Amino acid sequence: MTALEPTGRLQPYGIMVADDTARVFAAIAQHGGKARYVGGIVRDALLKRDLVDVDIACDLAPEETQTALEKAGIRVLPTGLKHGTITALTDAGTYEITTLRVDVETDGRHAEVAFTDSWLADAKRRDFTFNAIYCDPDGTVYDPFDGETDLREGRVRFIGVAENRIAEDYLRILRFFRFQAWFGRPPVDPVGAEACRKGAHGLIDISAERIRDEMFKLLRSRSPAGTVGDMIGFGILPVILPQLARTDCLRIMQWLDSTALADPAITPDPLRRLAALFQTGDDGTDDNLAAAERLARALRLSNEQTDRFAAMVAQAPLIDPEMSADNIRRDLYRIGPDAFRDAVLLAWSTRAAVPPRCSRQENEQWQSLIDAARNWQPVKLPIQGRDILAAGLAPAGPKIGELLKQAEEYWLDHGFEPDQNELKTYIVGLLSAGAQETE
Ligand code: ATP
Ligand code: MG
Repeated sequence: MTALEPTGRLQPYGIMVADDTARVFAAIAQHGGKARYVGGIVRDALLKRDLVDVDIACDLAPEETQTALEKAGIRVLPTGLKHGTITALTDAGTYEITTLRVDVETDGRHAEVAFTDSWLADAKRRDFTFNAIYCDPDGTVYDPFDGETDLREGRVRFIGVAENRIAEDYLRILRFFRFQAWFGRPPVDPVGAEACRKGAHGLIDISAERIRDEMFKLLRSRSPAGTVGDMIGFGILPVILPQLARTDCLRIMQWLDSTALADPAITPDPLRRLAALFQTGDDGTDDNLAAAERLARALRLSNEQTDRFAAMVAQAPLIDPEMSADNIRRDLYRIGPDAFRDAVLLAWSTRAAVPPRCSRQENEQWQSLIDAARNWQPVKLPIQGRDILAAGLAPAGPKIGELLKQAEEYWLDHGFEPDQNELKTYIVGLLSAGAQETE
């Protein structure tokens, strides 16, 4: 029995009812093929979530699908021809179209695949029951492993024998916990989690980029701390990223960034959450910074991400809820409101994670730092090198930079008040004091 029996219906919406989507399905049908939604889009439609990317399973060979789509004037990228996947691009969105397939040989990282005409065989090679639900364009649902029940009950369940499925592809361990964070209800499925524990050693060979992508997807879920705790408890993170241990800080961070603070500039941010979770076991700032850079390299973060991550780790220890208005302004001027906000959130979650509990007054102090970032109006030092040059205060050269630095300090010490004239007067004063000293 290789066909699938209908098990239910769903009401198509969003990208499912876009004209472009109808064109994709029609092109395949015209070529004699059969295509169905599968994977994330069906899962998300059953949960009535926003639908973004479209996964489609199809019984045509990938080259044929490509021809069919191109004939219909649809743009196609041969993204993974070897594995049977092509990507169709339309104005409405992106469609990952994969030929029905089975894995014939696996080594924990790569699979050699064979195409098949069996929908059931295709379903069996997928990872979790709720990721193997298919759906016709009209909304007819085929759910061979009762993934709908698992989805409704918040259970992430491997298709087949979990241990075997993990040995075929160790990345499934990370997918298991990622889907647990998004769709699971605690406690985590003990059979799957135990199988993950047994297979954790296999993660050593998984590429850093894939680990990073999975970790970021996990950290984007609403409240990942509990699942991250499971990943530590079941020995997953200790194998790949032992420096990620502060679930207590992450718990506060996720509460701050998604619930506690009504500030439009603050939204859940995976990199900031990663920083909360990051623990070196060393308070020395330099060592901390070196460890942060090692983590950034280990996860192949982009340069921009690395800089932001390192800045958070370096700045957070300098934040004090009792800092003066003057110091707050200086920091805001020096690093800008975004980096300041990052540092405050990180410092706040680190502080609040350890007893004693923050008093109401202390929480208000932290809140006022966040407010300061929101209300910050950028200011610019009202004097530049060329003003000093034009006033004949110093010749072109390094002296100008020195004078500017001193003028900036003076300006900061006086609450950004001094204007250009006052700063010139200050510089004249500096120069004549300097001249007297050298006399
Ligand atoms: P999302 O796109 O929201 O991250 P998804 O479930 O669509 O979630 P994809 O990576 O797009 O995930 O994969 C599409 C489908 O392909 C999955 O739903 C699953 O059926 C199958 N799949 C993806 N990766 C694996 C894997 N490593 N092992 C087995 N099946 C997989
Ligand atoms: Mg998908």
